[in-house]
Amino acid sequence: MRLHLIFGAPGSGKGSLAKLVHEKFALTHLSTGDILRDSVSKGTEVGLRVKASMANGTLVDDDTVNGIVFARLQDETEDVLFDGYPRTLNQAIALDDFLSERELDFGLVVYIDVPVSVLESRIVGRRVCSNSSCGAIYHVIRKKPLVDGVCDSCKSLLVQRPDDTSLAFHARMDEFNASYGPMLEHYRGKSNFRQVDGIALPDEVFSAVSMLYEEYV
Ligand code: AMP
Repeated sequence: MRLHLIFGAPGSGKGSLAKLVHEKFALTHLSTGDILRDSVSKGTEVGLRVKASMANGTLVDDDTVNGIVFARLQDETEDVLFDGYPRTLNQAIALDDFLSERELDFGLVVYIDVPVSVLESRIVGRRVCSNSSCGAIYHVIRKKPLVDGVCDSCKSLLVQRPDDTSLAFHARMDEFNASYGPMLEHYRGKSNFRQVDGIALPDEVFSAVSMLYEEYV
């Protein structure tokens, strides 16, 4: 088992990209945001604990997230693609320790780079399918559904995530700048680190990322 990381700011497109990469390269997709949202919607003990942080766009504490991730990795044998984890230097260090204790290696660490000015319009216009097992993602301008407010795939209603409002976006960006900066530096010097320009059209970003994986996987 090898671990690949894909990360970027809220609105960088990392979630959609990670889904495409995991399908194309048959990697297990592990999104901490998806797991946490699922816990909130099911009202589990973890879900009740993290509900407020999730809604206002602040990070869930490192111990909770590390606990979820390491439990998932315990029995994993396939290559895994992380989306949204690690998000802080402490999580990155905990993941390094977890891997070295088990003599496991990192695969690719891909950073999707998008300027802040572009991110807000992407986030605030994003709409997601309310059916959590579908999870399709739309945008009010960039990717409209065929029928306004209705998912093309499963016909459920489209909603705005509570952390995609303008207010929550700014909280998430403050958090991102404070926590991602040191983490980015942690990975930037490593030989498996790659930075991709995330401003291009989604297909172009995907083909740039695919080329990296074709060389590597
Ligand atoms: P995402 O879907 O990746 O944008 O994550 C949505 C929300 O889940 C974030 O705003 C955080 O509240 C929480 N979250 C997801 N992953 C992490 C993580 N690695 N560390 C802390 N909080 C996280």
